[in-house]
Amino acid sequence: MKRQTKKYCDLHIHSSCSDGGLTPLEILTLAQKIGLQAISITDHNTVEGVKIAKKEAKRFGIEVLPGIELDTTYKGYDFHILGYSMNFSNKKFIETLEKIREERKEREIEMAKKMRNLGFKIDLKKLKDQALIAVLAKYHIAWLLMKRPENRIKVYQEVGPYPTIHDIINYYLKRGRPAYVPKKILKVDEIIKLIKDAGGIPILAHPGLIHPDWKVTFESDKILMDLVKKGIQGFEVYTPKNTPPERKHYKALAKKLKVFITGGSDFHGTGIIEGVWPEDFKGRNFKAPYWIYERLKGALKKRL
Ligand SMILES: [Zn+2]
Ligand SMILES: [Zn+2]
Repeated sequence: MKRQTKKYCDLHIHSSCSDGGLTPLEILTLAQKIGLQAISITDHNTVEGVKIAKKEAKRFGIEVLPGIELDTTYKGYDFHILGYSMNFSNKKFIETLEKIREERKEREIEMAKKMRNLGFKIDLKKLKDQALIAVLAKYHIAWLLMKRPENRIKVYQEVGPYPTIHDIINYYLKRGRPAYVPKKILKVDEIIKLIKDAGGIPILAHPGLIHPDWKVTFESDKILMDLVKKGIQGFEVYTPKNTPPERKHYKALAKKLKVFITGGSDFHGTGIIEGVWPEDFKGRNFKAPYWIYERLKGALKKRL
């Protein structure tokens, strides 16, 4: 009998508690099906999905690492910071997440109103209802936009035929676009402190995505080194959002700086929205090696 030696994990997954398409239970079912030994649900600004997955993990035979994804900027670049294994009884951590969610909700409503001013039909009540079950994101505005058939002709004319969710977001809702509203965000130092004070490990998510023109250069490495000095404890290396040369580069840099190497698909569910071309399938079967999870776990154990 052939022994199965390869083990896999995915430490970057979004559930329907933020902007993902699948519930935590559906994620566990899928993870079991594709053969993952460990997962982390890293929703934006909420740990509700983690709580549900943690409770159910045992019967799926899957280990669940608590996670979160928070955004910030540094030197004019947008960064996403992943946090792993925070203690949810940390009051400051939970209260800060709550505050961020409230601010995001106000902002998404402002953006939806701007879309209405552009001539689209968007149901504000539905958007507010959505806020009760998920952390609002631009994704939800794009979803409500395409739900109404009468909006589609204008979208196809302006954005192009069969736009992806990202095409719609990039056209209307990104910085510099007509329905954009800036968000209040925590500074990178504040986020690192928040995660660390709650006992977590802060990791830089998908470094290959930080800037569209971002090339693996001395300049970008310098910023990554700055972030490590500030307390970032690892880079997400194994992600479809890093190109193969970027993966190689960030892996070597992580080794040089003696920080963790992590990985995950940044899965957002199947992402099928009527009238929108599904393209979030790319990351679906992306598996990261299990050893990245073991190293994190090892470090967390030592702390206890
Ligand atoms: Zn991200
Ligand atoms: Zn993500």
